[in-house]
Amino acid sequence: MPWINEDQCRGCGACVRVCPVNAISMNSSRIAVIDQSKCTKCGNCLSLCPMDCIRPNSENSDLKGQGGGAAMRSGSGSGAGRRGPGSGLGRGRR
Ligand code: SF4
Ligand code: SF4
Repeated sequence: MPWINEDQCRGCGACVRVCPVNAISMNSSRIAVIDQSKCTKCGNCLSLCPMDCIRPNSENSDLKGQGGGAAMRSGSGSGAGRRGPGSGLGRGRR
């Protein structure tokens, strides 16, 4: 499953148009949102985003290991991909 780095989404809507199962929509802030229950993991949206903000779940600690895997692009990100929701987990040590 892909996820969207909301900080980088420009709201262009390109990913909404490319999804074959209408799993992507824009929220009220014009940020793309993926309905994970509809996503078939086809990977179309991953290579399309001009901001490179649709990322494979292998880059999100909350989603790692949940589907997708080899079918998804990996390893070519900008390094900003780990700022997904819940990324604060594990920050206990100070
Ligand atoms: S293609 Fe990328 S920048 Fe455009 S709406 Fe989708 S996630 Fe946002
Ligand atoms: S991986 Fe395919 S089905 Fe899932 S959101 Fe992207 S385009 Fe839609």
